[in-house]
Amino acid sequence: MPDGVNLIAITKWMAYGQRAEETGTRSNPFGLRTCPRKYKRRTKGMKVKFMGAARTVTGSCFILETGEHRFAIDCGMHQGNGEIEKRNWETKIYDAAKIECILMTHAHIDHAGLLPRIVKEGFRGSIYATPPTIDLLKILLLDSAHIQEMEAQWKTRKHLRQGDGENYVEPLYIRKDAEEVTQYFKAVDYDQTITPFAGLTATFRDAGHILGASILELGVTENGKVSKLVFSGDIGRPAQLIIKDPTVIETADYLFMESTYGNRDHKNETDSLNELAEAVAYSYRNGQKVIIPSFAVERTQELLYCLHLLDREGRLPRDMPVYVDSPLATQATEIFRKYTNYFDEEAKGLLKKGEDPLTFPQLHFTRSTEESIKINTSTGPAVVVSASGMANAGRIRHHLRHNLWREGASVVFVGFQAQGTTGRRIVDGAKIIRIFNEDLAVKARIFTINGFSAHAGQSQLLEWLGCFRSQALQVFLIHGEYSAQQTLAGLIRERFGLPVTIPDYLEEITLKPGEAIERTAAPEQAVSRIDWNYIILDMENRLKQLRERQSRIEAKGWVEQSEVRERLLELNRRLTTLISDL
Ligand SMILES: [Zn+2]
Ligand SMILES: [Zn+2]
Repeated sequence: MPDGVNLIAITKWMAYGQRAEETGTRSNPFGLRTCPRKYKRRTKGMKVKFMGAARTVTGSCFILETGEHRFAIDCGMHQGNGEIEKRNWETKIYDAAKIECILMTHAHIDHAGLLPRIVKEGFRGSIYATPPTIDLLKILLLDSAHIQEMEAQWKTRKHLRQGDGENYVEPLYIRKDAEEVTQYFKAVDYDQTITPFAGLTATFRDAGHILGASILELGVTENGKVSKLVFSGDIGRPAQLIIKDPTVIETADYLFMESTYGNRDHKNETDSLNELAEAVAYSYRNGQKVIIPSFAVERTQELLYCLHLLDREGRLPRDMPVYVDSPLATQATEIFRKYTNYFDEEAKGLLKKGEDPLTFPQLHFTRSTEESIKINTSTGPAVVVSASGMANAGRIRHHLRHNLWREGASVVFVGFQAQGTTGRRIVDGAKIIRIFNEDLAVKARIFTINGFSAHAGQSQLLEWLGCFRSQALQVFLIHGEYSAQQTLAGLIRERFGLPVTIPDYLEEITLKPGEAIERTAAPEQAVSRIDWNYIILDMENRLKQLRERQSRIEAKGWVEQSEVRERLLELNRRLTTLISDL
């Protein structure tokens, strides 16, 4: 980036503070929030602190504090752009040594990815989860640690290349840290009630989201009164392939509900199967590949199930190999085979008939890097299923690099793409995508199939919520982007007349049975509001300065002028890409 327009310096000009509309607090001209007196009062009651998945979809972790106890629901990694991922390093505020136990809703990294770090920082309690969740966590946490190590190495090498040898980049955690976690696991089956300590009961119910995923029903005793808290975890889509439907819950005092698809519904499954068939037919006709970024767990197995169905219907050409190019997805598929008793009736039925819903003749699992590279040097049509699901890490990036720019190829998105990820940019229609520091034109046909989602859509969320019979139910929306949450909150208020709160990152909420909740913005609040007026004005000023120096440029020799022009054109090209992404 040429001198003068230093975007990094500009973006550091961020003012702190948001949420004035919700808490009634005001921001000063620099955005620093002042805390009204009523929030400074010491309050009794149960406290819930939102460590993540508050107005975002990742980083699920909620720390509950009762009189003498402190425990957590989930311990997820923050994923997305650099600003969001910085939160993974700020784990001191979790005060790990003082967390007595962690109850896990499921094995996804956005719900479990910080466990190694929390253990490294002194957590020594039990981590309760269902048996499939524990098995999946063992492979997912190791994989996550591996990614952390690779990224740190890559960044360190980059610094070295830039002559900055001092700047060694530490990984968030390493494989050894992930291995340490396993000793704290305690298996709990569905519908079995446990008492982690006096005053807390927990029951895990099938959430129908991924294998082993749970909705948590908690009974918390505070000052002799029992309150029922329900944490939905991620709520599955009814009629999802392989696994059962989400459990209907009828009572709660406080419900913490996910809202990923708070503002939209999914297309139906038959359409999804047809769309997948269409992508296969399109690229087969053109002799190109179908690239499917997919989460290793659940989504890949559902895709295998679908491809099994397409093969049965003769819609998957026999000379079109299907590669599952993800060692993790291969391991996850083995875990699925181990827990067939968690399958729904339909999948169990196929198994009973001796049919394996997770396989078909064209299927190959690749293990080594060499096998993975071979896929890209091979010609002819093929289907490649690889991780990560949002295309911002893993082998999928190599497959995109080799195919995104090819006419006739297709890229099929089968999962939610979070803001700030490569997948989201492609889905949003970017014409150029940067992968491995190289700009690639998007020429492949892009398919977005929402019907595969492991999340309930808007009407399914409302339907699930509609089963509650409790009169005084208080709803907290978590795990969703703010705009989706606002839409869903509006519908809940309108349809059920229930009070709905959308907590912010690091906010603390005090629950007192029979009384109104109290909200406290965290003093360590790290949500920074970007001052766009300042940034854009600053850039306009730079352009003005450039105009003022035009005569100076013109006075230079031709070679120097052409160098300035080159630098400006590069800057202009980047700006054009940025604008087209918006
Ligand atoms: Zn999940
Ligand atoms: Zn989630």
